[in-house]
Amino acid sequence: MDRAADQRLAAVCELVAGLAAANTTEDVCQAALDGLLSGTGANRAAILIFDDDGILRLRAWRNLTPECRHALAGYTPWPQGTRNALPVPIPDVSVEEGLQAYRDILEREQIRALAFVPLTLDAGVLGSLVLHYAARNECTGDDLNMARAITSQVALALERRHLANALARSECRLQTIIDHSSAVILVKDLQGRFQLINRRFEGAFHFSKQEVIGKTDYEIFPREIADRFRENDREVLTSGQVLAVQESAPQDDGVHTYISNKFPMRDPDGTIAGICGIAADVTNRKVLGDSSLHLAAIVESSDDAIIGKDLNGIIRIWNKGAERIFGYTAAEAIGRPITMLAAAEGIEDMRSILNKIRRGERIDHYETIRRRKDGETIHVSLTVSPVRDESGRIIGASKIARDISDRKNIERERTLLLAREQETRKTAELLNRVGPMLASELDTGKLAQTVTDLATELVGGKFGSFFHNVVDEKGESYMLYTLSGAPREAFAGFPMPRNTEIFAPTFRGQGLVRSDDITKDARYGKSGPYFGMPEGHLPVRSYLAAPVMSRSGEVLGGLFFGHPLEGKFTVQHEAILSGLAAQAAIALDNARLFEQAQWAQSELKRSNEDLRRANQDLETFAYSASHDLQEPLRTMAISAQLLERNYGKELKGDAAQILTYVVEGAQRMESLIQDILAYSTATRYTGGPPPSVHSGKALAIALANLDALIKQYGATVTFGPLPVILAHENRLVQLFQNLIGNALKYRREDAPRVHISTVERDGWSVFSLVDNGIGIDRKFADYIFGLFKRLHNRQEHPGSGIGLAICQRIVEQYGGRIWLEDSAPGAGSTFCFTFPTRT
Ligand code: ADP
Repeated sequence: MDRAADQRLAAVCELVAGLAAANTTEDVCQAALDGLLSGTGANRAAILIFDDDGILRLRAWRNLTPECRHALAGYTPWPQGTRNALPVPIPDVSVEEGLQAYRDILEREQIRALAFVPLTLDAGVLGSLVLHYAARNECTGDDLNMARAITSQVALALERRHLANALARSECRLQTIIDHSSAVILVKDLQGRFQLINRRFEGAFHFSKQEVIGKTDYEIFPREIADRFRENDREVLTSGQVLAVQESAPQDDGVHTYISNKFPMRDPDGTIAGICGIAADVTNRKVLGDSSLHLAAIVESSDDAIIGKDLNGIIRIWNKGAERIFGYTAAEAIGRPITMLAAAEGIEDMRSILNKIRRGERIDHYETIRRRKDGETIHVSLTVSPVRDESGRIIGASKIARDISDRKNIERERTLLLAREQETRKTAELLNRVGPMLASELDTGKLAQTVTDLATELVGGKFGSFFHNVVDEKGESYMLYTLSGAPREAFAGFPMPRNTEIFAPTFRGQGLVRSDDITKDARYGKSGPYFGMPEGHLPVRSYLAAPVMSRSGEVLGGLFFGHPLEGKFTVQHEAILSGLAAQAAIALDNARLFEQAQWAQSELKRSNEDLRRANQDLETFAYSASHDLQEPLRTMAISAQLLERNYGKELKGDAAQILTYVVEGAQRMESLIQDILAYSTATRYTGGPPPSVHSGKALAIALANLDALIKQYGATVTFGPLPVILAHENRLVQLFQNLIGNALKYRREDAPRVHISTVERDGWSVFSLVDNGIGIDRKFADYIFGLFKRLHNRQEHPGSGIGLAICQRIVEQYGGRIWLEDSAPGAGSTFCFTFPTRT
């Protein structure tokens, strides 16, 4: 081996030793330059390497001036990555075309030859070695081989270095990553020795990496904990699968709970080389989780709708209660705007709620209306509160909605009932006020008008009418009508309403008829000749009619109301009208009775007046007749008596007898005239109330007047206690005298007996006069009181038939009565009469 060869071998050996010891790229480059300068003929050398950014940079050199370094930097015969690049020797730089630009500097540096050797790896050229020679043609094949050998070593060393750096960087990155994880991360080998832990592990268990690496769980944790870890590790190693498991480990503040994901670590060939565990501390989360679960259960089971929404009004939370109340499932609701629940009238308050929430205000028990999925509106009570994140920023709102539709319905119902009750009370009060008003009106015409006006106003009719039946003095019935709200001319041209299908129920007293639009009523327009409303009739849509019926069930008339608009009359109006119709009926009944009574009274007055006049005429006649008749009669009697006295002896045949007849006739006529006079004067008392008289005294006078007769017939007159009564004494005397006189006159053969007694009855003294005379057939009980009515002829019993008539006149004059109480032929008679008792 020649010296040069020895030298080269020594250089390579030195190079290998140098590369083996190299820790950095710089070390590698320096070792390479050493090798190049000692193993080749070059006196200067440089190493250029492409940077990561693709720029060729001078990394190491020997014996190069800064000027030379500057000039050479960046020059390469091969672009980066060129594959199969070959060394480029330049034996004489002065002739090399490509180096024209460098000629001066090469000359100054006395560089005569150059050799470029590519630094290549699998990825192609990564740099170059440049050998500088001081003499031309010195770049020999051996030099190039040597240089190539060195570059291949340098490339490998650089590659190794590069990989080592990459590995270190990767490990560093991995460590950084795992150190920043909030989970506890660890890697163990198959024997359970820790190979890697992160900072969280160190912090949690207060062991440094150095203290942990290479140790097992048993050296760090209590035995039973370590057993549990080991057991889980074994399961992972046996199954080769990921194991998610809950593990516990003691820490300063007690035992912490971890959710660990444990999985096998495999080599690139798939063999399991260890085990990795990533454990998240869920101690707090578990507590939180438990309460969250609790809370979630409460939210879910709540009957109220619990809704979460963000500040844009988008629904984020939706519980079962919300589904029940609003009809949307959570899937349908979440992600949609809350405005989907807005009812037409509630959209504005939704906006204001959201604005309040944005300002951080809370809304409590706000009652509003929302819309369900099925479109129905419901009443809800809302409580809305802002939801804040950890920093206190408002991020949305929680809303609790309670369905208060039932309560609202009850409230509405109650309000309705109350309103109805108030209406009813108002109606009753109204009718109570109207009742007396109507009752006080006794003129049927005015009453009908008042009823019509009042009813039209109270039912809110545009116009109203009252068709009512009237019966005149002759008993003939016809129909009248009153109007309200319309002039009489409005009806003048139309006939009276007849029993058409519409009107019949009212005129037959079959109850109320109410229609929102009578023209749509099935009964409307059925009857001719008009088939509906006649041309020019007041426009009627709303229709209300009620019969007015008397207590006896007679239909007195019908009240009819109309309005040109539809739906004007309500149930309330019906109630008012039926009340009013009843009141009107009573008032009409009363007015009619009153009118009838008035008529009867005036009739009575009129006939009384007639009677009085007739009586007066009769009295005048009787009085004047008796007076006027007495005079010629007296002349007749006196003349007859003179005739008899002066010429009686001269009279022949039956002339004397005839003359006797004349005298007797004149006497009888005289007594008749006196009776008539007595009768006519029996009522002739005027002025003032009757005076008091003791009936006993009057009886005594009468008996004294009759004394001769009583004695003549041996009669007995007895009497009980007699009262003071209201009458004129002379009349009472006359009465007693007549009755006792009759008892004596109509006696039987045995001595007459008369008994007078009285009883008191309701302010009247009832006198009874009982005799034992011939009696009277009861069928003549009334007859005998008639003027000139008698039961016997003059031969049997003289008399004029005026006595009892006079008695009747006297008694009736004081408001009393006289009658034959009891009698039968041959069984005596009892006469009774009454006088007002003085009180
Ligand atoms: P007069 O006695 O003049 O006939 P009165 O009017 O007094 O007329 O009586 C009418 C008739 O009533 C009498 O004619 C007589 O027949 C009958 N009458 C009246 N009083 C009695 C009596 N006490 N007993 C029986 N009959 C009597």
